[in-house]
Amino acid sequence: MDRTLAELAEIASSCTRCRLSAGRTQVVFGSGSPTAGLMFVGEGPGFHEDRQGIPFVGAAGQLLNALLAEIGVPRDDVYICNVIKCRPPGNRDPLPDEIDQCKPYLLEQVALIDPRLVVTLGNFATRVILDRPASISRVRGQRFTWEGRTVIPTFHPAAVLRGGGAASRQMADIRADFAAVRAALEEPVPRIEEQLGLF
Ligand code: URA
Repeated sequence: MDRTLAELAEIASSCTRCRLSAGRTQVVFGSGSPTAGLMFVGEGPGFHEDRQGIPFVGAAGQLLNALLAEIGVPRDDVYICNVIKCRPPGNRDPLPDEIDQCKPYLLEQVALIDPRLVVTLGNFATRVILDRPASISRVRGQRFTWEGRTVIPTFHPAAVLRGGGAASRQMADIRADFAAVRAALEEPVPRIEEQLGLF
């Protein structure tokens, strides 16, 4: 498959693979650098994202922006998207068949952007990327290897906001996880022999 990211976005923009196409204002494909080394995967668009066509522009997005600023990473340098590209009615959780229908877009996005580090935000993104029923509170802040990439799961920013905000334990944890992301970015890229497991 030799599509560009822009071509994939164009295809996704008229997607009718699942029922969510009926209720969306627009598909929220993703935003940021198409060559980012760091990619964030959230759950799905909310009200503001559906209106603007950009992921993480509401309250959760403000927290994501603040956490990125805290580790000195410009938002324009990363790529941000979601597991599902269309807003579920009333912001309900995505259904398994909606995730299944949308997953090929996410996997192709990852392949095309080819980030070294993927940060999964919350349970849905973590389970879809790691392909196992992980609980975010158990796996957050740890490093996993997936298809030659490092994956660091952390809480979804919206869950942190719901869970008490600035002084909460979850806020301290997500800040620590972002510091771990910064540390991972600062490590040298492994040599090709190491990436291939040759020694
Ligand atoms: N929550 C998400 O998971 N994604 C968004 O884009 C916004 C809020």
